[in-house]
Amino acid sequence: MKFDLHIHSCLSPCASLEMAPSEIVARAAAAGMSGIALTDHNSSRNCPAIAECARRAGIGCLYGLEVCTAEEVHVLTLFDTTEQAAAMTDWVYAAMIKRVNDPEAFGDQPVVTWDNDIVELEWRILGSAARKTVQETGAKCRELGGLFVAAHVDRPAFSVFSQLGGIPPDAGFDAIEISRTGGEDEWRAKTEGFAATRSSDAHNLDDVALVWTEIPDAPFTVASLRAAFAARATAVSPPLRFGAAR
Ligand SMILES: [Zn+2]
Ligand SMILES: [Zn+2]
Repeated sequence: MKFDLHIHSCLSPCASLEMAPSEIVARAAAAGMSGIALTDHNSSRNCPAIAECARRAGIGCLYGLEVCTAEEVHVLTLFDTTEQAAAMTDWVYAAMIKRVNDPEAFGDQPVVTWDNDIVELEWRILGSAARKTVQETGAKCRELGGLFVAAHVDRPAFSVFSQLGGIPPDAGFDAIEISRTGGEDEWRAKTEGFAATRSSDAHNLDDVALVWTEIPDAPFTVASLRAAFAARATAVSPPLRFGAAR
């Protein structure tokens, strides 16, 4: 089964406002994904909406957030339930600066319903870093029962390699993520011992499920993914060719 584990909704300040949960689910289902994960920057507040969309569409869904740590490393935290993701969000919110977002400068951050009504605009600056280290974030994620994935390890910014020079041995990552253009062989070699995933990191509808990760058929749950990661039983789609990334 194929899944795209890194997708941003309209709640992320840098994502397109067209990224309504209903549209994301429709695109992922049309692309043949068995499951997706919603991973907005530092917040899971659109997860209840996408949960309902996924349920209606009959597609699997995990609920998470892409935390920006104190070292400005992006990490994915993925959970089975919206309640676990909400608990992670509360912990991250408590560690963020309390400045009010300026939509003109950083972008809008709408919290929406499954049928595309805007509930409110998130006031925190979701693109800012939380005052928690990679290790602290991983420990909290595990305490809540989640999966902890090093995001886009091949990118020259906001990755464990760009910020820390490599993978801290005590971070407790369950897997690493190679971005849509990263070379699999090169990054598997640099991240030996970790299962590899590849996900779209979509900020626009056209990017949803452009690339994906595959595991043997199993229920789309944290436990199944954890087992596949532990067995290194993941396969990833080929990278997008240079120039094809949007
Ligand atoms: Zn990122
Ligand atoms: Zn992202």
